[in-house]
Amino acid sequence: MNFEDYRGVWVFVEEKDGAPAPVSLELLGAGRKLADKRKTELAGVLIGENNGALAKTVLEYGADKVYVYDDPIYRFYRTETYMKAMLDCVEKHKPEILLYGATSTGKDLASAVATDLPTGLTADTTQLDVEEDTGLLLASRPAFGGNIMATILCKKYRPQMATVRPKVMKALPRQEAASGEVVKESLPLREDDIRTKVLEIVRSTTRHVRIDEADVIVAGGKGLGGPAGFQVVHRLAEALGAAVGASRDVVEAGWIEHHHQVGQTGLTVTPKVYFAIGISGAIQHVVGMQNSGLIIAINKDPAAPIFQTCHYGIVGDALTVVPMLTEAFLSA
Ligand code: FAD
Repeated sequence: MNFEDYRGVWVFVEEKDGAPAPVSLELLGAGRKLADKRKTELAGVLIGENNGALAKTVLEYGADKVYVYDDPIYRFYRTETYMKAMLDCVEKHKPEILLYGATSTGKDLASAVATDLPTGLTADTTQLDVEEDTGLLLASRPAFGGNIMATILCKKYRPQMATVRPKVMKALPRQEAASGEVVKESLPLREDDIRTKVLEIVRSTTRHVRIDEADVIVAGGKGLGGPAGFQVVHRLAEALGAAVGASRDVVEAGWIEHHHQVGQTGLTVTPKVYFAIGISGAIQHVVGMQNSGLIIAINKDPAAPIFQTCHYGIVGDALTVVPMLTEAFLSA
């Protein structure tokens, strides 16, 4: 493998409701810094249908170039079609670094692409840097329950690939007059050759803000006593326009679905504000929320470990305190 052939920093740009997903804009911001340090170009890779306007947005958020695969076959995300497009692009244009958001789509695509390329993938990173002279990507992530930061290197192969957690990097301000190159790519894919078919998209009927993208999370634990007590969490979240999080014990008890679970075996979140209500603060929970901007804990036990992690703590019965807080926010 000749490293000289591999140039540029790339970001897989995920689409969400007709616009680039917030994590993709964050990665364009992070990618810009890496590309500038390495004195190379930053490119976005856009795969979808009718994505011309999105390509312009990618340039406005810092990319020098955007590779576009625009075809009805990419209308819905499917591992097979997106993987084929990404592999085609990588083989043709050879990036030195390729970043994906650590979303369900990004994680799925990155791991599929990694199985087909002779390279590795660093998952769930929270810090990125690059060696100016060698181009070696320094991809760091918490390890051993968040007790150390591990920096993972891919010394022998290119491209160097990583998934990056949402909300840890900063997007650049939009430059509406930005210029850059849109490179149209195509691949002769036929629907008959694709094994997976999307028959129907059924939108979730529950009104919920995704916890990995929320600025405010109200999370509840076993201390709320049961599904009826857990309603105080929903009401506070609704008053604040926040997402609802939960401990594993609550999810296992069936009070709420798994995609609300925060922690080692759930999602890692970094909102601006995190309420931990009736949550003891077990290490497996804390590793998933400890980097939140402001942590407010409500627990009736003054010795609960969560008080070691929070910025503000209220010792009291959540079933009394939380409705009072909700009232206060609603009348503020
Ligand atoms: P508890 O530990 O039972 O705590 C309840 C708290 O509520 C107590 O502190 C109590 O004082 C307080 N309380 C009681 N009544 C009230 C009241 N009326 N008002 C206010 N406070 C009250 N856990 C996760 O959350 N996420 C994970 O991803 C995760 N992954 C795990 C992976 C592994 C391999 C293992 C072994 C465990 C994992 N766990 C995870 C489980 C974790 O160890 C804890 O068991 C769990 O987080 C405890 O949930 P809890 O805080 O809701 O319940």
